[in-house]
Amino acid sequence: MIKKVLIANRGEIAVRIIRACAELKIRSVAIYTEPDRYGLHVKRADEAYSLGKDPIKGYLEPSRIVNLAVETGCDAIHPGYGFLSENAEFASLCEKKGLTFIGPKSSVIAKMGDKTAARKTMIEAGVPVTPGSEGNLENLEQAITLADDIGYPVMLKATSGGGGRGIRRCDTPEELKTQYPRVISEATKAFGSAEVFMEKCIVDPLHIEAQILGDADGNVIHLYERDCSIQRRNQKLIEIAPSPQITPEQRQYIGDLAVRAAKAVGYESAGTVEFLLTGNEVYFMEMNTRIQVEHTITEQITGVDIVQEQLRIASGQSLRYKQQDISFQGFALQFRINAEDPKNDFLPSFGRVTHYYAPGGPGVRVDTAIFTGYDIPPYYDSMCLKLIVWALNWEDALERGKRALDDMRLHGVRTTAQYYQQILDHPEFREAKFNTSFVATHPELLKYSIKRHPSEIALALAAAIAAHTNA
Ligand code: ADP
Ligand code: ADP
Ligand code: MG
Repeated sequence: MIKKVLIANRGEIAVRIIRACAELKIRSVAIYTEPDRYGLHVKRADEAYSLGKDPIKGYLEPSRIVNLAVETGCDAIHPGYGFLSENAEFASLCEKKGLTFIGPKSSVIAKMGDKTAARKTMIEAGVPVTPGSEGNLENLEQAITLADDIGYPVMLKATSGGGGRGIRRCDTPEELKTQYPRVISEATKAFGSAEVFMEKCIVDPLHIEAQILGDADGNVIHLYERDCSIQRRNQKLIEIAPSPQITPEQRQYIGDLAVRAAKAVGYESAGTVEFLLTGNEVYFMEMNTRIQVEHTITEQITGVDIVQEQLRIASGQSLRYKQQDISFQGFALQFRINAEDPKNDFLPSFGRVTHYYAPGGPGVRVDTAIFTGYDIPPYYDSMCLKLIVWALNWEDALERGKRALDDMRLHGVRTTAQYYQQILDHPEFREAKFNTSFVATHPELLKYSIKRHPSEIALALAAAIAAHTNA
């Protein structure tokens, strides 16, 4: 078994990994940059090391992190999500230095991180993919010809994209002409790669993803699906397991497809295969080669501790479960509580948490790194807490969600909690009839919303950063 793990991350996911380590008697090492000096992951780990003043750089320096892991006697590194989690060079550097990277092989990360390479692999493996370009787009003319072929609307997508960014819908050739250079520039800025490709836009689809686990012996199982259709601007807000809106046959089909996809690339560790659903069609969208934000809800319905399984697999153990050992019960929902103001176009709202009272009671789980007095720094993701509820049936899970959101008090910053109450009360949501357009087509749930221009958001963010730096 692995003995000591460096966690190359921060916030709630670092705390989540530390907890799994503690239960498996594995020593944990945290890293932090200056704004995180008093962070919960630093307090909770067995050891913690500073990686300098810059808020972000320390979390993104592969060689520094790997060297620190070696110096502190770690035998493995857990990357969490975001940051270096899908960086194939980081994984390969770990492999070179004799450290275990807790995730799949670097070659698998590289292949699945390139969305056009992933599409090719899936086509070869007989997994249906969204209709689209064979590889990356060469120029605008090619894009226009292809879009005529596929039929509008189409999606332009950054080949190395993630986190819901670098995706644009085009309804006409004119829109394609204006969006094409925009996506290229967005992709270059956000992901350091100008490569873009095209997919048919699936109108009003469900986003359904399957959790998988694979080991070094080639065993792969799935832990059923999550419904992540409640999204804003291609980013997930509420996630549900299992999906309340698919049939048992679809469930079986999606699970089998996910296992086939994972086997096709020799997948080890925990991973997610994302699909779009429309009517009876299922299309592969992408594979995330890491622990996902919403792994929690799968843990609640199956009882499997996915992070512990990652640690066991990375230690060279075979999967402890066969497919027939995995069953699920009830429904779990995860609410991503973001430090944002939904009534102000989801403007980020950083600052001091003046009071925080955790929700509790039956069927409630909270994954967070905040506490009363904590300063939410402006440099990172605005997601500050994950509230997860579980109940035996859908109606009870909805009521439990409302009650737990009511329990919670989080003062000092604006959050998305109230907004989720509105969603939970909406008849379409309650009847489990929603798709990825739900948020966009229900602006009335954000009654007093004031539209903000993106440049104003950038200004507010800059002001928050300046205020924080001077504090
Ligand atoms: P999940 O699929 O687990 O819900 P998200 O897409 O919300 O994950 O991403 C989790 C975190 O990782 C977010 O902070 C997101 O901004 C970041 N992230 C995901 N993919 C990338 C990427 N390719 N480059 C940079 N950051 C990313
Ligand atoms: P990311 O790597 O940023 O997570 P994905 O490829 O997973 O990007 O897409 C994120 C979201 O964008 C999806 O959940 C879906 O809502 C939307 N989306 C992506 N591709 C399509 C498509 N071809 N048609 C319709 N919606 C799409
Ligand atoms: Mg995705």
